[in-house]
Amino acid sequence: MPKLNENYLNLKESYLFSEIAHRTASYIKENPDKPLIRLGIGDVTRPLCECVVKALHEGAEEMGKTETFRGYGPEQGYVQIRQAISDYYKRHGAAVDIESIFISDGAKSDTGNITELFGKGNRILIPDPVYPVYVDSNVMCGNAVTYIEGNEENAFLPMPDWSVAADIIYICSPNNPTGACYSTEQLQEWVDYALKNKAVILFDAAYEAFISRPGLPRSIYQCKGAKRCAIEFCSLSKTAGFTGTRCGYTIVPKELVFKSSTGKKMSLNAMWNRRQSTKYNGTSYIVQKAAAAVFTEQGERECRENLEYYRGNAKIIMNTLTDLGISFFGGVNSPYIWLKCPNNMDSWDFFDFLLNKIQVVGTPGGGFGENGRKYFRLTSFGTHENTAEAMKRFHSLFFSEPIDK
Ligand SMILES: *Cc1c(COP(=O)(O)O)cnc(C)c1O
Repeated sequence: MPKLNENYLNLKESYLFSEIAHRTASYIKENPDKPLIRLGIGDVTRPLCECVVKALHEGAEEMGKTETFRGYGPEQGYVQIRQAISDYYKRHGAAVDIESIFISDGAKSDTGNITELFGKGNRILIPDPVYPVYVDSNVMCGNAVTYIEGNEENAFLPMPDWSVAADIIYICSPNNPTGACYSTEQLQEWVDYALKNKAVILFDAAYEAFISRPGLPRSIYQCKGAKRCAIEFCSLSKTAGFTGTRCGYTIVPKELVFKSSTGKKMSLNAMWNRRQSTKYNGTSYIVQKAAAAVFTEQGERECRENLEYYRGNAKIIMNTLTDLGISFFGGVNSPYIWLKCPNNMDSWDFFDFLLNKIQVVGTPGGGFGENGRKYFRLTSFGTHENTAEAMKRFHSLFFSEPIDK
């Protein structure tokens, strides 16, 4: 009989989205005549843009001809797309060379797999609330984690406690689920803290393209010294609607060199390269071709139109909440609006309340951590029509039932 990885026993039941589906389904069963609006899951609704679809077609054609057929590609990704990403960073004021860029099938795999590069006994800081993958992937390999508290006082942007050392720090900015985004000065403080402690920051930039306020950092490499302490993950999922097409990239600078317990120098770039070459055979050529199209002038313009569409939804949501006196975070530099449940309600009670009263489905903040228990996430990834209708329903509900704050 195999001995199993019993760390899996320590995982908390990942019941967030299944519980939402369950409660929603039973409501529909009892109320088949009441149309539901879903502003819950973090999936996009806009289709792939034109030049991406064109590239997919071209890629498929190439694969169907002997002269242009491609088999296994480089595990790290094709040079063209890595170059396109390097140029993209340059346009945002960060120099990233192509040897540090690894193309993948998405940021979830990479943020989950990165734990393999680290040993046991690290002090690992993870924000609460945050994207659940960071915690669960650490629990799966038996790591203990320390939460850093995001709350109203720090506007869901926890800052380092200089009196305590850390080895690994997860940061997601703009944040899922809170929508909060670090300023360059704040991020620089994390970088300085990491450098002082010889720690590594694992920076998830999946939502960088949603930043609309000028001056906010879209990459951690806009901070001084970040290449000596940070790995960055990014994804085309939210930026370009690749949730079903699958493409992301991870940047592991060559400057990330640490010492082994016996004093031997170890490069995280070399280790990740070895890890990927051993366990990953590269992202599909067709998908990489489509991804490269995202970074062309036309691709950037077309993707920006979709981002504007979502920003329009975020505005409708923010305006409505402001009118109703419901406080919230996010929405400006993020597709997520993180609202405080009225009347100090628990997030699951608020979920049921919205479902039963106005048939709007959102995501209870408790699913992202203890600090989310009184909060609720709405997304701007729906259609204009649905978002507007949902907010009309919010208005009628909270206007007729005044909230005592
Ligand atoms: C959606 C999301 C990702 C992207 O995941 P993919 O695997 O690239 O689709 C990464 N990080 C966060 C925080 C996300 O919300």
